[in-house]
Amino acid sequence: MGLGLCPGQVCVASSFRLSKTDNMRQLFVVSIHELGHTQGLPHCPVKTCFMRDAEGGNPTNEETEFCPKCKAHLVSRAWAL
Ligand SMILES: [Zn+2]
Ligand SMILES: [Zn+2]
Repeated sequence: MGLGLCPGQVCVASSFRLSKTDNMRQLFVVSIHELGHTQGLPHCPVKTCFMRDAEGGNPTNEETEFCPKCKAHLVSRAWAL
């Protein structure tokens, strides 16, 4: 679905493995996940967090937000969340 340098300045997101319905929302989740990697965020064990590891599947519908820990990391890098 996506790949991002961690940390780095580039990432890619693809809709290829996403389901046909709700495609744009899922692509948003994948994109924000990869952008999180470029900010130095590792994968997160919180099920609803955008930084959850997809582990070969597609859990994007269960991801609703950044958890407090990931959010704090991004806010410290000047993200307006
Ligand atoms: Zn990832
Ligand atoms: Zn998290």
